[in-house]
Amino acid sequence: MGSAVGDDQTMDTGLTLVHIRGIEIRLSGSVVVIVALVTWSLAVNMLPEVAEGYGDGAYWSVAALLAVALLAGLVAHELGHSIVAAREGVGVSSITLWMFGGVARLESQPKTARSAGRIAIAGPAVSAAIGVAALAVEPLFDGLTAAAIAWYGVINLALAVFNLLPAFPMDGGRMYQAWWWARTQDQDDATRRAVSLGRTMGAIMIGLGALEALSGAAVGGVWLILIGWFVREAGRAELDQVTILDPLSKLCVAQVMTADPESVVETATLDSFVSHSVLGGRHTTYPVVAVEGHVVGLVNLQAIRSVDRERWAQTTVGSVATPLAEVATIDVAASVADVMELMAGDARRRTLVFDSTRLVGIIAPADLTRLVAAVQLAGPEAFELPN
Ligand SMILES: [Zn+2]
Repeated sequence: MGSAVGDDQTMDTGLTLVHIRGIEIRLSGSVVVIVALVTWSLAVNMLPEVAEGYGDGAYWSVAALLAVALLAGLVAHELGHSIVAAREGVGVSSITLWMFGGVARLESQPKTARSAGRIAIAGPAVSAAIGVAALAVEPLFDGLTAAAIAWYGVINLALAVFNLLPAFPMDGGRMYQAWWWARTQDQDDATRRAVSLGRTMGAIMIGLGALEALSGAAVGGVWLILIGWFVREAGRAELDQVTILDPLSKLCVAQVMTADPESVVETATLDSFVSHSVLGGRHTTYPVVAVEGHVVGLVNLQAIRSVDRERWAQTTVGSVATPLAEVATIDVAASVADVMELMAGDARRRTLVFDSTRLVGIIAPADLTRLVAAVQLAGPEAFELPN
């Protein structure tokens, strides 16, 4: 459905099916429910109605085949987004199929409105192409086969149309966002407008779903209600990204680092390091410096713990430190976005901040989470955030 960026933990559980062009194709557990529902409704209701006179076995096997083909169509839709994204310089790490379709996880935001628009339209374009192709070959067949191909064509066309609804973060909503972005050259403003319209669309879906459910179509109604709810929640998350994380990521490293961190000389023994710095100290990680003063690495409590206590008197800090070459480092003029990229996926990671060759600070993940929490509490306007 969407081309989600970032936070979608709901879909993190799942099974890796296959890799296509380096993109991981994953299947969430909720897909099983959808496949079962689609197979059941095709085998029991739809196929016997449009193609009479076949056995139960034929209906069920064609229905199961169509349900799997539907998943393949969803993967093709997301691959459409992914291939265009790659061409626009935006990497895609994985595609996840879940209850509401597929999600391609982009590694970064598109750089321009034009890129964003192209990436958004590519998925519906693939779905529409599959739909048209299926309907074009359908007259060559008859009976149950023709009925199955016709259903597949119509469902893919419907997918294309449904995804074009301006219900951000669905594709149509992303195109609406890209259109405003191109018009005003203000990406954040475009996102706000798209989220606002998307949340209205979500509310309409919930209302229509409730009407549908009350009029007897329980499954379709509940499904529409869930999609509406998902659209509204996803919009809110995207808005948080714009109002909190994006301004934060433009902050300079110097504004979030712990300045002039306490360091330890590499020739110190673990014994003296623990008694002088660690006990009563406030840190779990210390830069290690040579006697001449330049930084040679980083040492943390875990490295000390790995050495037997009896050997602390003979072991130097330098011998258990992580060498500088393996430590994340960043220039003091870099942005918080750069640090976030460095720290991504490693919660224990510390980054040393340098002003050319001089160590001026250290950043722990906690420094970033504290800042995010503070902004959420006080609002971005309480901070001097750049625009
Ligand atoms: Zn899509």
